[in-house]
Amino acid sequence: MTADLERLARDAGRDLEDASPQEVLRWTEQHFGDRWVVASSMQDAVLIDLAVQVRSDVRVLFLDTGYHFAETLGVRDAVAVRYPGLRLVNAVPERTVAEQDEAEGPRLYERDPDRCCHLRKVVPLRRYLDGFGAWVTGLRRVDAPSRAGTPVVTWDERHRLVKVNPIAGWSDGRFEEYVAAHDVLVNLLIGEGYPSIGCAPCTAPVTQGADLRSGRWQGRSKTECGLHP
Ligand code: SF4
Repeated sequence: MTADLERLARDAGRDLEDASPQEVLRWTEQHFGDRWVVASSMQDAVLIDLAVQVRSDVRVLFLDTGYHFAETLGVRDAVAVRYPGLRLVNAVPERTVAEQDEAEGPRLYERDPDRCCHLRKVVPLRRYLDGFGAWVTGLRRVDAPSRAGTPVVTWDERHRLVKVNPIAGWSDGRFEEYVAAHDVLVNLLIGEGYPSIGCAPCTAPVTQGADLRSGRWQGRSKTECGLHP
């Protein structure tokens, strides 16, 4: 079974390389029915807007770490209003921020951000994905050098399911074109110099022309939260 899925993902990664995001999502629906989920950071709703065209009651997973900007939670809430048919899942960590402070000491994100991301993002994601056949992300190759090789469809060994990245090949121009044409919800912080938005304590604005993700975990070698190894 797993070998079949791995083969399916490998073949689709090759065959769908030039397909539109809608075609990639239709392929996902065709193979996984109700067993796929869209993961969204609520930086924008582009992927959600594309996914509801294929399945109006698509599941959308938001990892609510307890550290998000109010603007990000605002996008999450606006998404629920704009797309009333979708099933929004607000996945929370096992411990609240206060409980984590009590157990691990305050500001774990400063002392050990890898552990903080593990507890508040990686574990909740793993727990939620259990039982699904595929998850869909908004990763794009232009996001960062570390994402330059992102395939449209691949096998996710860590979660043991298929990972679908329908807009992996989109340029910034194509992305902005879609936002304007479809009046897509975007996080207000983008207009304030935050091109990549994560948790508030670990996200800073960046200067024009800088690496888009350079505002994340500033001053550290960490560049990813561990969801996309
Ligand atoms: Fe913790 Fe920062 Fe990771 Fe959010 S991004 S889970 S605050 S270390």
